[in-house]
Amino acid sequence: MERKTLFVDTIVPLAVPNLYTYRVPYQLNDFVKPGVRIIVPFGRNKLHTAIIRTVHENVPTYTTKLIDYILDDTPIVTDIQLKLWDWIATYYMCTLGEVMIAALPSSFKLASETKILLNEHFQDNENIRLDDNEYIISEALSVRGTLDLSEIAEIIDRKTVYPIVKRLIDKGVIVVEEEIKAVYKPKKEKYVTLSDSITKEEQLEAVFDSLKRAVKQQEILLQYLQMSSFFGEKKEVKKVDLLKKVDASSSIIKSLYDKNILAEYELEIGRLQNYKGEIQEVKQLTESQSIALNEIEESFETKSVCLLHGVTGSGKTEVYVELMNKYIKKGETVLFLLPEIALTTQIINRLRKYYGDRIGVYHSKFSPHERVEIWNAVLKDKLHKYDIILGARSAVFLPFKKLGLIIVDEEHETSFKQHDPAPRYNARDTSVMLARAFKAKVLLGSATPGIETMWNAREGNFGLVEMKTRYGGIQMPEIQCADIAKAKKKKEMFGIFSSFLLEEMKAVLKRGEQIILFQNRRGYAPKWMCEDCGWIPMCTQCDVSLTYHKYTRLLSCHYCGYTLTPPSKCGACGSSDIKMVGFGTEKIEEELSIHLGSKVKIQRMDLDTTRSKHAYQNIISDFEQRKIDILVGTQMVTKGLDFDNVSLVGVLNADDMLFYPDFRAFERAYQLMTQVSGRSGRKKKRGNVIVQTHTPDHWIIQKVMQNDYDGMYEQELYERKNYQYPPFFRIIRLTVRHRDKPVVDEASNVFAKALKEKLGNRVLGPEYGAIPRIKNVYNKQITIKYERKASAKQVKDHILEKIAELRQINSKYKSVRVKIDVDPM
Ligand code: ADP
Ligand code: ZN
Ligand code: ZN
Repeated sequence: MERKTLFVDTIVPLAVPNLYTYRVPYQLNDFVKPGVRIIVPFGRNKLHTAIIRTVHENVPTYTTKLIDYILDDTPIVTDIQLKLWDWIATYYMCTLGEVMIAALPSSFKLASETKILLNEHFQDNENIRLDDNEYIISEALSVRGTLDLSEIAEIIDRKTVYPIVKRLIDKGVIVVEEEIKAVYKPKKEKYVTLSDSITKEEQLEAVFDSLKRAVKQQEILLQYLQMSSFFGEKKEVKKVDLLKKVDASSSIIKSLYDKNILAEYELEIGRLQNYKGEIQEVKQLTESQSIALNEIEESFETKSVCLLHGVTGSGKTEVYVELMNKYIKKGETVLFLLPEIALTTQIINRLRKYYGDRIGVYHSKFSPHERVEIWNAVLKDKLHKYDIILGARSAVFLPFKKLGLIIVDEEHETSFKQHDPAPRYNARDTSVMLARAFKAKVLLGSATPGIETMWNAREGNFGLVEMKTRYGGIQMPEIQCADIAKAKKKKEMFGIFSSFLLEEMKAVLKRGEQIILFQNRRGYAPKWMCEDCGWIPMCTQCDVSLTYHKYTRLLSCHYCGYTLTPPSKCGACGSSDIKMVGFGTEKIEEELSIHLGSKVKIQRMDLDTTRSKHAYQNIISDFEQRKIDILVGTQMVTKGLDFDNVSLVGVLNADDMLFYPDFRAFERAYQLMTQVSGRSGRKKKRGNVIVQTHTPDHWIIQKVMQNDYDGMYEQELYERKNYQYPPFFRIIRLTVRHRDKPVVDEASNVFAKALKEKLGNRVLGPEYGAIPRIKNVYNKQITIKYERKASAKQVKDHILEKIAELRQINSKYKSVRVKIDVDPM
């Protein structure tokens, strides 16, 4: 028989640009398929988990290494996924390896636990130069013996250490302990069955006879026959359930095993099937909700994406549910994307009431085991059939089989976009591509759609369906301003509260209703400052001031984690008049008790108070049960919460949302204020909102007060057109990074100049952003703005070409990194 010589092109989980080709040992010819994981040698001593992209017979011009072994019998990544990975890598300008790292649960990437050692045979010589990080790693290894990749990542404070580790291997400095172990261990449960020796019903009689004197054993056997519905359609019987039913110990069942009457087997179980509540009927849609549902379905006849613009409290969730049911009935899966799972326990609970364990939840906070379990369930329909997968952005990477519908709730949220590391993808936009592969539909939902999304809808690229009224006919909240400047003049500001807001709060509390106070994350951070000269303690590694945390009594840097005990003397003038400035949620809490009395129950909700696993859920349920009067929080309180006793929302300072340098600042400010206002007065009666600001006449504040999304959209779109921003132009942001400031300055100038040759004035910068230095690395930005109708491929190819050239121009630039962010948010 003729044997074919096969090759595979593989994706390795590294930030390397290409596919790597390996030869297939003949005995593995029948097993290599796209999407299967294999172990391959990489570099001199390293083994990696790789994914087969293609199998072919084209003999490469260079000698190839052999595949080490195959990990999967059947593909764990589908063809559709591989194509999506290609799209992400091309569109977001990253490598397939980076997509693979983001897409696969870490348990699938076996090399991540691999241990690194110093190479005993390494001879230090002049030809081998180590850069800073390489040197640090080799030093650490000489002290600690072995390190795994995550420890290395910690030491050099980087997420991706593969490239450095690979360089060190290539230079012969380190070796890899060749220990590859499967990390994922499925959880199993014991089941009971009749022994193989009993094949016919007639045999049972004899069996029962033989058990005449063993009453308990008889009872177990009888119970088993009942539970397995032996005479009907057979069911699996769990050992624990069986023992519980007859109240027997496992030693009794063991004698039945010994007598070869019953036998035991194991099955994998899902960790996530634990819904204990009752399943409820779906709610009857209101007229406007049914109209919306019909319009969505109609629009799906001609368009694959539809925007549902429904005001807060219009009942979008109920519409989603009815729509989802139609797809589930057809046997198709629904993907429900949420901006941040941690913040949306409420919606999970709502949907669980309708779907119970038919919903699988998937996001990066889950343990690798749980993630692998959902992955396998979606891939094989074996462990458990999920009708709905609810997830944060990484859920777009699941191996769907029959995907019918994707719902992107709160589609305007920035957390759909991954910032670091690459792939810097937007899950909302990626889901449109994912749906295309399945000919599935996408419903984008929001009370405050992103400008680009609304533009796409108005242009006719997406369908557009509106719900303008709240459920139950309740009016939109009444929004009023408190003019901080005026109040100050009239001596009506008490610390951070205007008397207007204070009086309103007192009245609400008197009526036994609840309050939400919103303080924007930006600009609230408490700092220490010298009263005499204005000196503020700064981070030593980043160009930011340190933030004070009352509970730890430490100043710390939010970018690198550097901490410092608050100094007793000014670092500039030596004065000892140092005090805290700025107001965080802690300070608000303090002031509230002063003004409203200590009996008022106040709870903060911010990053500090929601660190532990269930903290967020606990705060929400305490608030729901009215154990809290006032909830004070940052961005977290604006998202998707639905309380029925909140009649007042206070925005403590709208100004720091409006005035910061970003072309999306106004859009974001409108969205934030509208969303937080929407928490007021749902269910029974109209709510109130008080916005404290120095600029009550600002057009954005006016639009918020008038609840005029369309007006905001028109004006903002006009500005975007004037100043050449999305949706009319597309943006790619390039960040040139290096530890030496002169190198960054020089390289970014050379780079920008090279880009301008072809792109002309579409190239802006280079310039330093708000924080020039982070973790001792300087960051200079170059922004490319190009016309929507221009060829994105040409622009992107040009950028990649110029980045490659930059490295050739001067050896100084070899260690310069260029971070690419397509469609930054
Ligand atoms: P949105 O997400 O659009 O802000 P929700 O879906 O949270 O609105 O709905 C607001 C409230 O109104 C929820 O408490 C929901 O249970 C209730 N609601 C919406 N539609 C209906 C309906 N058709 N029947 C009963 N309750 C409804
Ligand atoms: Zn000073
Ligand atoms: Zn820092």
